[in-house]
Amino acid sequence: STRARIVVLGGGAAGLTMAARLRALLDGARITVVEPSEIHDYQPGWTLVAAGVYSVGEVQRRNERYIPRGVDWVRSAVAAIDPESQRVETVDGDHLDYDFLVVATGLHLDFEAIDGLRREDIGRPGLTSIYASAEAARDAYEQVRTFGERGGVARFTIPGTPIKCAGAPIKATFIAESLLQSAGQRGDAEFHYHTGADRLFSVARFDTMVRDLYAERDIAVNEDGFLAAVDIDARQATFRGTNGNEETVDYDYLHVTPPMRAHGFVREAGLAVEDGALADGGWLAVDDRTLQHTRYPNIFGAGDVVATAIGKTASTVRSHGAVMPDNLVDVLQDREPSREFDGYTSCPLITEVGKAALVEFDYSLQEVPTFGFIDQGEPSWMWWRLKVHMIKPLYFNMLRGRYLR
Ligand code: FAD
Repeated sequence: STRARIVVLGGGAAGLTMAARLRALLDGARITVVEPSEIHDYQPGWTLVAAGVYSVGEVQRRNERYIPRGVDWVRSAVAAIDPESQRVETVDGDHLDYDFLVVATGLHLDFEAIDGLRREDIGRPGLTSIYASAEAARDAYEQVRTFGERGGVARFTIPGTPIKCAGAPIKATFIAESLLQSAGQRGDAEFHYHTGADRLFSVARFDTMVRDLYAERDIAVNEDGFLAAVDIDARQATFRGTNGNEETVDYDYLHVTPPMRAHGFVREAGLAVEDGALADGGWLAVDDRTLQHTRYPNIFGAGDVVATAIGKTASTVRSHGAVMPDNLVDVLQDREPSREFDGYTSCPLITEVGKAALVEFDYSLQEVPTFGFIDQGEPSWMWWRLKVHMIKPLYFNMLRGRYLR
């Protein structure tokens, strides 16, 4: 039994899962979750909203139902952390003192880093992003319908930063193409996928698979640069290459995956990684195996906020849930952290409406299939059905600390 004060920042996939697991592990601990939103969004379902399969209502639940019993909920947002005095300040000016801190505030979508674009522009004619919200995913579906009727040029972008669910921009492309195919409208549309990276997918096998499918379905791959600017009224997008070269092209339908980074208060608190490949994003500096902060032993991270280039998925949170809370308890009881996260990342890579490949890998970028007796990498209706019917209940069970990996 302990009377330790544990504050969990963020009540998304990671915050709720860590709070539930800590609650189960620690009798008597005073656990507080700081989360401003009343609604919990099942974000992995947003691709299916964009496919016209789920409604917006089907991917939203009330947070109230998932804050574990015996855990306090502060309905506010974090403004600042002072790791020296072990204190958190909310935007409402309240203070919370902690013995242990769990940072699980996810990531910030930096639409504003693209010239001419603000987050609230998503949804204007021709401009979509399934990343912005469930409603934006629904709008992407509706705008694909309109685009299909008129024809023209569709463009899909990916940024140069780490992103959550790195496969989702590819899924958005395949879904839109597939919707036009089945509506018999594919003939009048051009599809372009834009990137400035040399790989479309981190795992070599799926890089090849996506390239082959893109070629088969006449989706052009432009590897000349990342989206740098948009002129919304003129419907023009500017891409900038790593060599600084810029190219401006027209579009009728533009799907934007914005640059992503941690929220500013992580860096302001001196808790971010300061060098190496991930220094730009202000990500939380944790040991990538134990998820303990590299400078403050009483601070842990979980979910998208942590400084790992891969593993920004909800399925990763299933693994974080089996590692991070136990490690926190170890430290609380004066032991070294005993559990290690292996980099587990998974996403059902939707290749068309009705088919998906089940991609699972770890830090080594080698496949780690759950169902070893069958080739999960081959797109099949089976993984589609798993995605549509099974993964959502699994996710909501995870939020209660169950079925951790
Ligand atoms: P989130 O779930 O985003 O939660 C962060 C929480 O922090 C939010 O509740 C937010 O309100 C809160 N917060 C923010 N700022 C503050 C603040 N200042 N103070 C307090 N709280 C704050 N994952 C998969 O496994 N498979 C998939 O197929 C998949 N597809 C995806 C498709 C899309 C389009 C998107 C957007 C995501 C997808 N994901 C997928 C990724 C998955 O949703 C995330 O990796 C997961 O939600 C990460 O959990 P998190 O708790 O770190 O972040």
